Amino acid sequence: MSTRHLLNDLAAICYPEPAFPEEDQTPPAERDAARAGTEEARAAFLAQLAAAEEGSGPDFDPLLNTLGNLVAIKKDADEKIRLLLAYGRIYTTPRPHTLEALGQAAGLTPSGVSRAFGAEEILQVGDRTGLRPAAADVSDHHPELFPEGTASQRRCTWGGSRTNPCTDAAKYIVTDKSGTRWACCDSHLPGYLRSRPRA
Ligand SMILES: [Zn+2]
Repeated sequence: MSTRHLLNDLAAICYPEPAFPEEDQTPPAERDAARAGTEEARAAFLAQLAAAEEGSGPDFDPLLNTLGNLVAIKKDADEKIRLLLAYGRIYTTPRPHTLEALGQAAGLTPSGVSRAFGAEEILQVGDRTGLRPAAADVSDHHPELFPEGTASQRRCTWGGSRTNPCTDAAKYIVTDKSGTRWACCDSHLPGYLRSRPRA
């Protein structure tokens, strides 16, 4: 059983009392609303902890649980940042966002932006949005060029969408301008490549 004391400490750390300095001009009604908002957030936090405690054994530790939840939020945000950087570099049209602009927004150096994502993120963005990057090259399909167990080893990942994937056998590899490889069936070749004689 977690002590009231510990729970209130956690709530106070995570949802601090709004502070208004002496010279602050915030109207009383707004101050009251801010305090009420904090109270509400703390109550929701404590309710969530109580539910988590109920769902776990006697070893439940609210401090460790709170840390775990925050780390999960951080990981989720980090993943979204990597996907958005990939989107900005590879998918935005008519031209990609610059490394400088993305870096400034994400608190990274330009080279940090380049290193923040790779083929996995590019494919993930394609999966989530249904978009495909500009294609740079097409070649014959070789399953061994894709990571073991990925869909691109067997079927077309260039055509279709997340909810309605193309199930046709992969016949080609489409390489986008970032160098990321996609498997492609006979009918989903990018338009301009289809009309171009293959080397
Ligand atoms: Zn296809």
